[in-house]
Amino acid sequence: MTANGGTVIADPGEAVFAAPGEMAARCREIDWAATPLGPVERWSTSLRTTVGLVLSSRQPMFLWWGPKLVQFHNDAYRPSLGTGGRADRALGACGREFWTDIWPVIGPQIEQVMTTGVPVWHEDLYLPIERNGRLEDVWWTYSYSAVRDDDGRIAGTLVVCMETTERVLTERRLKESAATLEERTTAVERALAETALAESHLRDVFSQAPVGVAVLTGPSLVYEIANARYAESMGGGRPLIGVPVRTAFPEVAGQGYFELLDEVLATGTPVSLPESRVLLDRDRDGVVEEYFFDLRFEALRDPAGRPYAVVIIAAEVTEQVRARRRTELLQELTVALSATLSAEQVAAVMLERGLPAFGAAGGGVVLRIDRASDDTPAELQVLQMIGFEVDASVGRSRYPLRPGSPGTDAVLAGRPLLLGDRAAWEARYPGLWPTMEAGGFEAYGAIPLRFEERVIGVLTVYFVGPRTFADEDVALLSAFGEQCAQALERARLYTVAESARDDAERARAAAEEANRAKSAFLATMSHELRTPLNAIGGYAELIELGIRGAVTEEQRADLARIQASQRHLLGLINDVLNYAKLETGAVRYDLEAVPVDEALRAAQELVIPQARAKGLTLTVDAGAPAPRVRADAEKLRQILANLLSNAVKFTPAGGTIALCARAEGDAAGAAVRVRVRDTGIGIPADRLDAIFEPFVQVRSDLTRTAEGTGLGLAISRDLARGMGGDLTAESAPGAGSTFTLTLPAAR
Ligand code: ADP
Repeated sequence: MTANGGTVIADPGEAVFAAPGEMAARCREIDWAATPLGPVERWSTSLRTTVGLVLSSRQPMFLWWGPKLVQFHNDAYRPSLGTGGRADRALGACGREFWTDIWPVIGPQIEQVMTTGVPVWHEDLYLPIERNGRLEDVWWTYSYSAVRDDDGRIAGTLVVCMETTERVLTERRLKESAATLEERTTAVERALAETALAESHLRDVFSQAPVGVAVLTGPSLVYEIANARYAESMGGGRPLIGVPVRTAFPEVAGQGYFELLDEVLATGTPVSLPESRVLLDRDRDGVVEEYFFDLRFEALRDPAGRPYAVVIIAAEVTEQVRARRRTELLQELTVALSATLSAEQVAAVMLERGLPAFGAAGGGVVLRIDRASDDTPAELQVLQMIGFEVDASVGRSRYPLRPGSPGTDAVLAGRPLLLGDRAAWEARYPGLWPTMEAGGFEAYGAIPLRFEERVIGVLTVYFVGPRTFADEDVALLSAFGEQCAQALERARLYTVAESARDDAERARAAAEEANRAKSAFLATMSHELRTPLNAIGGYAELIELGIRGAVTEEQRADLARIQASQRHLLGLINDVLNYAKLETGAVRYDLEAVPVDEALRAAQELVIPQARAKGLTLTVDAGAPAPRVRADAEKLRQILANLLSNAVKFTPAGGTIALCARAEGDAAGAAVRVRVRDTGIGIPADRLDAIFEPFVQVRSDLTRTAEGTGLGLAISRDLARGMGGDLTAESAPGAGSTFTLTLPAAR
């Protein structure tokens, strides 16, 4: 035996490896200097003591020592290593290299012991081994416990095994009386061989499974296996192996899972819990958070069919569930927002539905108000707030848009501004923290509301307690902000359109009402005036006829003036009454085929006396053959009389008035145009439309004396249109006027 350059005082193995038995003998033969442990004389006291203890014990023991996990075991342990020289190769080997097949199972257990010192403990664990030339049913109770080095650091893992096969089998035998030992042994043997094989496969599958897998055994549900995925997603690095589930996860108590596990173990009936919500303190910072798992609890049965363990299969779906929830939230919000018609309703939806969905306890919708003048700055106005009376980030409900508060800064920068905790407030807005604190809030977010390129406001959110804003939180908040901005803009457009429509509606209603009142007034007044006027006419006639006594020539001349004025006045009143009737839609048209030549002649006769008196030339050309129009003969006569009397009225002496009619058929249907052309004073271009409005008269020196109501043309055009035609005018001052009446031709 050699030591690395050191002096060998005595055979140092003597004391350490002094125990009787095969393993001690083999230890003495090994060249320890060639192992990571180095020569025995350099071994620490602790290592020597422990190895000595292992080798001298009748209890099966196994030891891993040092970072390389160099192995020792005693004679009692040898059978556990099976046959085929495995027991010999195990001694002095490094753990990771020796146990390659089951390393995924035992590696984490050793790791736990070495790093945390928490022991692993298994009770009556069924682990069949090759013994006596065959696969034997063996039950074990064993522990992995930490062994400390001289300096107090954990340097080894000591395995102390106790075979409990006898006890387990005796217990069973006592309980089961039906089957004979012989029968049972054969059946169990076969089952066990299969189980053992299956189990070793199972362990591989477990450790490599892309889902979390754990096996909990015994009535207190102790973790026997937990693969890395399970430990990562459920445990968050806490020791699991050998720990009862209730001890490992105290925060899960009261969530119903332990009871379900108990039930699965008792009944053997598996349970599936898709998208199950588990509250876990995964970061182990004392704060329980929400996670989602697709869970399945399944019983493992011993050869007799009794459940002895529960397998937990846990696939974490937290992200999927959150992502789906976010999508659902956004969809719900979009639907709710689409029903909003005002900015207030948008704010209410955002605050009442959006905030809780996001986990915020308070918040506000704040609008940007631009000022008309450049001198006054834009302002922010709180539209609605929850949790605060005013915007707590400034302490007011309306404030100038200047840098210095998180809300205004977010608007000015056009980017979300997030303050996760008190430290963030004190670093950036120390003066505002007291307000937040007083309101019972800590984390805060301000999300600018953008519509197209403009920032139209800001959505603020307040959280009770601190919060780390993850990327997806910011994305969700921004999506909320976008929805909010769009809804606000839509509401604004709707409000504008609505008020415009209201204005138009009000104006129309007012105009209609005024018109109706006017027409009613005119009708009443005309009627009231006509009765006394008719009386005046009637009595004047009585006097003229001499019924009341002889009438002198002078009196007769006066009576003629009275009668002329009476007729004139009656004419005016009839116009007014006609117009009022037209306005109220109370006019009936008796449409028939009217020969145009007859209508022109009848109208012409009415104005011949006046035309002659003024020395005007009057021509009529009805066309040959004269067309026929579809019209109410009386109303046609009335229109023509009005046009002719206007022509006479506004044409100075020596002028000409031409009346002509022509059929002008086209594809759309034949029409007849009747034109009244004069060589009179004409009408300015800008009045050509106005003259068709009621009570409009073009005033000039020439017409100042002309009598009339300004209703004639309005009535005429209404009548023309009422018969499916129209009345238009062309004129130029001093160049005469032409009025064209269009009516449908009679078929
Ligand atoms: P009025 O009772 O005043 O004649 P109308 O509606 O018939 O009412 O005519 C309205 C106004 O149109 C007249 O006051 C006049 O100023 C102008 N007008 C109508 N016909 C002619 C015409 N042939 N030549 C010039 N002005 C005309």
